[in-house]
Amino acid sequence: MFNKILIANRGEIALRIQRACKEMGIQTIAVHSEADTDAMHVLMADESVCIGPPRAADSYLNITAIMAAAEITDTQAIHPGYGFLAEHAEFAEITKASGLVFIGPRPDVIRLLGDKVRARDAMIKAGVPVVPGSDGVVRDENMALQAARKIGYPVIIKAVGGGGGRGMKVVHTDAALINAYTVAKNEALQFFKNGDVYIEKFMQNPRHIEIQVMADLHGNAIHLGERDCSLQRRHQKLLEESPSPRVTPEQRAHLGGLAAKAALAVGYSGAGTFEFLQDSDTGDFFFIEVNTRIQVEHPVTEMVTGIDLVKEQIRVAAGMVLSVKQEDIVFTGHSIECRINAEHPEDFTPSPGRITRYHAPGGGGVRVDSAAYEGYLIQPYYDSMIGKLIVHGQDREEAVARMRRALDEYVIEGIDTSIPLHQRILRDGAFKAGQYDLNFLEHFLKARKK
Ligand code: ADP
Repeated sequence: MFNKILIANRGEIALRIQRACKEMGIQTIAVHSEADTDAMHVLMADESVCIGPPRAADSYLNITAIMAAAEITDTQAIHPGYGFLAEHAEFAEITKASGLVFIGPRPDVIRLLGDKVRARDAMIKAGVPVVPGSDGVVRDENMALQAARKIGYPVIIKAVGGGGGRGMKVVHTDAALINAYTVAKNEALQFFKNGDVYIEKFMQNPRHIEIQVMADLHGNAIHLGERDCSLQRRHQKLLEESPSPRVTPEQRAHLGGLAAKAALAVGYSGAGTFEFLQDSDTGDFFFIEVNTRIQVEHPVTEMVTGIDLVKEQIRVAAGMVLSVKQEDIVFTGHSIECRINAEHPEDFTPSPGRITRYHAPGGGGVRVDSAAYEGYLIQPYYDSMIGKLIVHGQDREEAVARMRRALDEYVIEGIDTSIPLHQRILRDGAFKAGQYDLNFLEHFLKARKK
């Protein structure tokens, strides 16, 4: 096992990883920007190194500075968290070439699955159903037209190197397609430094269901059930739960088995998420992508399985065999996570600033993963998510009641947060009945405005 791990991240996930390390007797190294000197992940670490100015491009994305920090602190492994360099194949390669362990899958596997067209092909080969789409990259307008007509409108144009829900275009007609194709290519080049795009059938009112997978370096792969992440605004998840109110135990076992098998087929190791869209009419699942990192919403899986996914990631990276077998996994109760963002609950404008009062909820079945504290100054440079409130209940009804109770207890003053929005969602009849899809939140917000 490692003695020291450098955590190449900030905020709640850096803290989350530190907590796992501490419990495993591993020393933690924090890296931070000049703006984060007083951040919780720095205060809680065994050692910390400043890696540059506030802008992420100059600090948390600065590979040279991070590798220098790793060297001077004599680190053995690097955990990238999520976001920043978590799915950066080259960073994983450089880490390896420097004689350190990258806590994540192999660089070539990150590269394969980070290319959405190659990932789709790999899944088709592994027998996983994918969303109907173009035969690979769409190279020109003609190819785009042919593919869209064959698939049938509406279609969605997506970037091969895409991520973060950006740069996707939904089109309903030939005329719109031509225009959107060029815009999508330009945006893809700008955002992802890769102008390649492909086309998929745009599914109406689907649910976003994802499977958590964990694999070791000894040919073992398991799944830890699904998360329902259908509550999204502009392709950004806001609330997640496990199990999904719409997935049966048979579907879970089937889809989970497919994902674990596919993970083995591509040489996956560590924690990974296989994302699917579920057709609202037929209930069928179609693969969209794999995320090769620990996800924001991993705690809901931990709550229902009792397995610490970050500790498991570290164990796997150290060459150990998975601590559990598929038959050991028991799903207990129900878990919900609300993302607490520093933003206005109605117009979603970011709300950086100083937290003047802070009181986190507690009590049975409540978990708070947050790096916020009273007096903390939320910086404008980074993601607006300042924490996650997670609850566990015996069943969904109890989890919903518990989340409402915990949200009511949560005091954050001085800035706007998404807490009031979550309070409204948790009171909504359709949500309480588990009847929501990817379009739910948009309708919910519009209805409120009228
Ligand atoms: P990213 O890597 O940018 O997150 P994804 O492929 O995971 O992109 O898609 C993000 C979100 O976009 C999905 O959760 C879903 O809301 C929407 N989406 C993606 N593909 C489709 C599709 N074919 N039909 C309908 N919605 C889609």
